[in-house]
Order: sequence, then C-alpha cells, then structure tokens
Amino acid sequence: MDGKILNEFRQDLVSGEWVLFATGRAKRPQSDKKKEEDWKYKSAENCPFEDFKKSDNEPVWFCPNETDWQIAVIKNKFPAVKPGICKPAMTFGPFNVQEAVGFHDLFVYRDHDKHFADFSKDEIVDVIRSYKKRYLEISKSGGCVRYILIFHNFGREAGASIYHPHSQIISMPILPPDVSRSVNGSHNFYKDHNERVYDVLMKWEKEHGNRIIYENDLFIAFCPFVSKTPYEVRIFSRDSHAHFEKMPDEFDKYLADVLLVVLNKIRKALGDPPYNLFVHTAPAETDLESVHEFYSWHIEILPKVKVAAGFEMGTGMDINVVDPDEAAEELRNTDV
Ligand SMILES: [Zn+2]
Repeated sequence: MDGKILNEFRQDLVSGEWVLFATGRAKRPQSDKKKEEDWKYKSAENCPFEDFKKSDNEPVWFCPNETDWQIAVIKNKFPAVKPGICKPAMTFGPFNVQEAVGFHDLFVYRDHDKHFADFSKDEIVDVIRSYKKRYLEISKSGGCVRYILIFHNFGREAGASIYHPHSQIISMPILPPDVSRSVNGSHNFYKDHNERVYDVLMKWEKEHGNRIIYENDLFIAFCPFVSKTPYEVRIFSRDSHAHFEKMPDEFDKYLADVLLVVLNKIRKALGDPPYNLFVHTAPAETDLESVHEFYSWHIEILPKVKVAAGFEMGTGMDINVVDPDEAAEELRNTDV
C-alpha cells in the first residue's frame, strides 16, 4: 500500500453508516508517550499559527483585518476533505464510496495561550460571527455540501493536535450518522406526536429545573436527562430555530454569555478538563423543506473525563458514571 492516499467516505454495508478515510493527514496514530513528546507546538517558538507565511499556511480572511487580526480563517494544511468537483457516490463491489470533497478550514485565535474561557464576551461574539460567516460562504459554494460541522477541541486528550487555540469547520458530501439519526428522529417524533421533540425536552427540563446550569433571555444550558458522558452540556436557543447560521446577530451576545459562563464553570468545577464543543445545525442541503418544523440547532460540550472502552465500542452505548442531576447541580453552584 506504499504511497496510496485514501480520501473517501465508505458506507458500512450493514449499518449504513459512513466512515471517513483521510490517510494523507499529518501523522499516523502514535502511542501516548510519543504523542506527549510530540506536542512540540506547545511553545510559541515553533507554533505554525504565529506566522502563516513562515509556516506556509493559506489564509482565507481575517477578523477584523490582516494587520490587527484576532481571528484568522485559514485552510487546513492537512485537510480531511479536499476541494474538488463533486461526483455522485460510486459503487465498489457491494459498497458505496463517496469521494471526500469539501472544505476544511481552521479558525485561529490570535493569542497562543488564551483559551475560550479567558475570552471576553465581545471576543466570543466575534468567534460566533466568524463561524456563521464562514458557514454561509461554504454553504453557498455550490453542490456537494450536505453537511457543515463547526467544532472546537480543547486539550491534547480531546484531540487538539496543535496547542494554539483554534476551531475547525468541515463540509461533507454525505450526512454524518449522528446528524442523520437526530434529523430523522426529530422528524419521526413530529410525525408521531405533532410536537417538536426539542420543545418537549426543553419544557421538561424547565419544569424540573434540576439539570439547568444557566439561562439568560435567549439561551438555556443544561445537562440532559440522557447525558451520554459525565458533565455533558447542551445549549439551546429559546427560539428553536433549525439553522445556527441564520441566527440573528442580536442573539450573538446572549450566546456568548452562556458559552462563557458554562466553559468557566466546567473549568473551575472539573479542573480545566479537555473538552469537545460542536454546533449541531440542520443539514446544509436538505430536501426536508420543513426541517424548521421539527429540528432545533444546539451546541454540545463534552468534557473529556473518561475514555471510551470495550463496552462502548462493542455496544455503541455509553456508560455514564455521573448522574446528570448531580453534574448540573455541581456546575450550577460553581461561581464564575
Ligand atoms: Zn501559537
């Protein structure tokens, strides 16, 4: 298999779930010990995000401008999907294979050592606006964009291969399994109950109140009754819109407020754990015109306090060792 680079989605013949193969990315998996030594960009000296020209990184745009940028959108040098012309899925023997065509950009934040929890509210507002702006640009780029994921990994154990704070945006020509399950599940719930599942969830959380961590006029953050992992937090907008990218600009400061409060509570209560944060929004291209009737965009934050093991991998079911009621109580009572 010398020199063969795979860059494609392959669909599992049994489950129907897609897996992305991107073997041309920076490095092959290594043992943890090697990884520790290898996290060499921890010092700003060798950091590729201090000088884009020197590190041969290609900027897309800067916020607010190139000289005084606080956020730079750059092309990922080792993208998991690549720009190209979209072709229909092909068959390979009994399998469906889809070329991994798309955008994979990074949002790089100016300060090498300043993490989200340390940002000001205005700085988080700029992050949210940059997310929306780049999302809309990519979604308007033409065919082949079925889903766009925005995510942020904090800490080595959460998968951040480069220390310098950055988020990622990636578009894909297929609907990823988690999104597909949520969109179909919320659609089916709507058809069966004539109610939006997220409204039912929020109403129930509001009534009980014991899993709510924080809320403001427009957003609510809670540990879901069915949390997959300890201290899992979900943030929902009260207007229950399907599309994050279409959120009105006046909402941004409220979202920034709830994000900052939650991230600071997590940092303080759990001792600055690594975490994954992502935005789940409706599919970019959908023939479900009515998606707004049953789907609500939201943000999930998953602190990395445990590692998936044999049981989880073998069953596709998580074991959560912390009662979400207690997780929420702890976070709610943490002053920040
Ligand atoms: Zn840096």
